[in-house]
Amino acid sequence: MRQLLLLIVFVLAARWLVKLQRAGQARGNARADAGRGASSSARRARPRNTPSLAEPVERCAACGVHAPRSESVLVGQQYFCCAEHARPYTARAAGTR
Ligand SMILES: [Zn+2]
Repeated sequence: MRQLLLLIVFVLAARWLVKLQRAGQARGNARADAGRGASSSARRARPRNTPSLAEPVERCAACGVHAPRSESVLVGQQYFCCAEHARPYTARAAGTR
């Protein structure tokens, strides 16, 4: 029974230490960002900068290249990889209307 109590105390102490360590890390990262900060902040900022897989990919109606929706050009209902490929379609759409 005493051993069990000791174990519980040990677990609680370990949890408390982990919490303390995490708080210290957060504070340390904030300080690192303010100072040198390049390595740790860059590692954390990367997911924001690189296009995530969650972003929908659209197929260019002219050449068939797949491009992220944010980077593709939308004309009517069609997506294009670049403005150059969209131009003939916009001319055609404008002409028919
Ligand atoms: Zn294209």
